[in-house]
Amino acid sequence: MSRGADQNDMLPRTQHALKFDLVAKCATTKARAATLHLPHGPVQLPMFMPVATQASLKGLTPKQLEETSCRLCLNNTYHLGLKPGQATLDTIGGAHKLQSWPHNILTDSGGFQMVSLLKLAQVTEEGVRFLSPHDGTPMLLTPEHSISLQNSIGSDIIMQLDDVIATTSPDHARILEAMHRSVRWLDRCIAAHKKPESQNLFCIIQGGLDLELRRECTRQMVARDTPGIAIGGLSGGEAKVEYCKVVKTCTDLLPDGKPRYVMGVGYPEDILVSVALGADMFDCVWPTRTARFGNAITNVGVLNLKNASYACDFRPVDEGCKCMCCRPTSEGGLGITRAYIHHTAAKETAGAHLLSIHNVHYLLILMRQVRDAITEQRYPAFLRAYFYKLYAGEKHKYPQWAVDALAGVNVDLLAES
Ligand SMILES: [Zn+2]
Repeated sequence: MSRGADQNDMLPRTQHALKFDLVAKCATTKARAATLHLPHGPVQLPMFMPVATQASLKGLTPKQLEETSCRLCLNNTYHLGLKPGQATLDTIGGAHKLQSWPHNILTDSGGFQMVSLLKLAQVTEEGVRFLSPHDGTPMLLTPEHSISLQNSIGSDIIMQLDDVIATTSPDHARILEAMHRSVRWLDRCIAAHKKPESQNLFCIIQGGLDLELRRECTRQMVARDTPGIAIGGLSGGEAKVEYCKVVKTCTDLLPDGKPRYVMGVGYPEDILVSVALGADMFDCVWPTRTARFGNAITNVGVLNLKNASYACDFRPVDEGCKCMCCRPTSEGGLGITRAYIHHTAAKETAGAHLLSIHNVHYLLILMRQVRDAITEQRYPAFLRAYFYKLYAGEKHKYPQWAVDALAGVNVDLLAES
């Protein structure tokens, strides 16, 4: 008996450890609001995920991170694999237990760290070869090893090992090879994944800035039916106009019912435009890294509190902000002033900790506002109002890439709201 298409449709789909509920779609742009049910609780999309490199966000304890309302943070497989190492992770029962984090964790594959941190990393079909930063012994990270490490970490979302090269690379043959290899490595990752019932493996679309390669890669990745899909290899110094084209090209081909994660994006205006282009999830070390340089993210742009003009500025870091750092002591906060951060920034770690709390909180609140604007069908007006405030200091002269990208999804940034 031959099996018809109808019967095929009735076959159970691959079992995934997540449930994606699309809550609303913007009637103008490609923005979506969704609830993503993960093994350690639901998270609201679109969302920003802070990066906790060594199972701790630089400057924040897990408790403080929880207080920022973060329910999904990133851990680096490469760092956890080195320290405490796989055997310890297996003994303790994974990274949630290691850091007493009851919420969700996403881990990268470890490949990006190696290629970006280790100059001697070499990519072959087998995997990424590199010299141990501890003792210089030759090591090899394969798709199988990456998944095995992530299975030991126990993260709710795990990433495939991909062949990452700089988007700015002029070597088209190498970009083509990396794209096809990333697909082959995904197949090896799927085969090696031991816990699909509790950990969600995301594929990563590659293809550099070549839109035809991106389309081809998207089709091949989608066919493999992973629970979520990432767009990788961006934020590597390419022009923003190219970045936007790649994101839109990929989201045009992606199914509605799966989360879409654009890796390495953290500037508020980049996130807002990417959401309009149909992306749901973002991560970046920038909010915590820039805090260490005394930079506070606000609605009117980044304030460098090391600047002498803040020495006697006794206003909160960001007026009206409800984070632990900015909230007045009368409301249970720490009541930290710009003058205090000015005094401690780049000298005492306390200043960086406090600004990290504020910066992470800022992005998480921003994402909540974005989500509300989408569900209430006012995202275009929200975009106009946000850019208007952000660029007030520059007489509302908006970057052309943002104006063009948003025009491509029917939003005129320059129109009256
Ligand atoms: Zn704050």
